[in-house]
Amino acid sequence: MKPAWFDYCVPRDLKEALHILDDAGQEGRVLAGGQSLVPMLNLRILSPAVVVDINRIEALNGLRAEKDCLTVGALVRHADLLRSADVCGGWPLLAEATRQVAHMAIRNRGTVCGSVSHNDPAAEHPSVLVTMGGTVVIAGKAGCRELRAEEFFTGTLSNALEPGEMVVELRYPRPPARTGSAFVEFARRLGDFAIAGAAATLTMRDEICDHARLTILGMGEGPFRAYAAEQTLSGRRLDPKRYKDGFAEAAAKVVADVDPAGDIHASAGYRRHLAGVLTQRALETAFARAGGQVG
Ligand SMILES: Cc1cc2nc3c(=O)[nH]c(=O)nc-3n(C[C@H](O)[C@H](O)[C@H](O)COP(=O)(O)OP(=O)(O)OC[C@H]3O[C@@H](n4cnc5c(N)ncnc54)[C@H](O)[C@@H]3O)c2cc1C
Repeated sequence: MKPAWFDYCVPRDLKEALHILDDAGQEGRVLAGGQSLVPMLNLRILSPAVVVDINRIEALNGLRAEKDCLTVGALVRHADLLRSADVCGGWPLLAEATRQVAHMAIRNRGTVCGSVSHNDPAAEHPSVLVTMGGTVVIAGKAGCRELRAEEFFTGTLSNALEPGEMVVELRYPRPPARTGSAFVEFARRLGDFAIAGAAATLTMRDEICDHARLTILGMGEGPFRAYAAEQTLSGRRLDPKRYKDGFAEAAAKVVADVDPAGDIHASAGYRRHLAGVLTQRALETAFARAGGQVG
């Protein structure tokens, strides 16, 4: 339970951090909250030659809510989101999901960008970023680039970062008017990683669902965007008599499309079943929050 030897670097600004990461190439790893990296080092799942602790870089601390966008810097902790009235009021899906990340001690230390970079298939933040149509801002020695969330996540515990690059911020568009959202998950104990979960947003125009977005977590490979289920709902009339049929159809599409693996926590069949049940719950809650008329 001891890590292999590594060089520990504590840069004071982003330029210095990028310089060290560039020199280290494949052998460099960013240390943010350490809630996932430190266990992986101790178990020797990872043995980087250089660990770059970014915690002294003031400029990465920013949490800014603007008219159209929320910007979350690389040192913003899960708990910082929950302390922000702007986040809780303007980006309720993000706040609801963050409340379900681990325990308070971990939320106080772990960062949102760290969770997104780590891309655990059971983590809340990757699915929320995809559902909200968010983007990832990446910095390297050559400059910055911005990727859509879906381009960033490339599979279990992996992402589109090139050697020498790091995530500097996440951007979440402000949800349109008359959007309701919900994040629901199922875990064996409060604070455990979820076995499965669903993040949904519905934007309503009278009784018509203008736009639906739905992402499932816990199915392996990272966030699963349920396109077929979204298409079932987008443009559909969701009146008090018929909205439940729409949500049942969407849930059936999810059950047909996900392809989870079984593990010691749950069989593949049970995860698939949960994906359908949680989809329906998330959609019903999002619908009510969007002001939809329930029968
Ligand atoms: C007991 C326990 C329970 C947990 N339960 C949950 C849970 O229910 N849900 C959940 O989502 N998470 C859970 N976590 C993980 C936790 O949320 C972490 O905070 C999160 O996964 C990583 O954030 P971090 O800042 O600690 O990242 P670190 O541990 O510092 O880094 C994680 C990985 O991301 C990379 N990284 C970090 N920041 C950057 C960056 N800016 N740019 C590029 N790469 C970066 C690191 O190099 C490393 O590979 C749990 C952790 C523990 C210990």
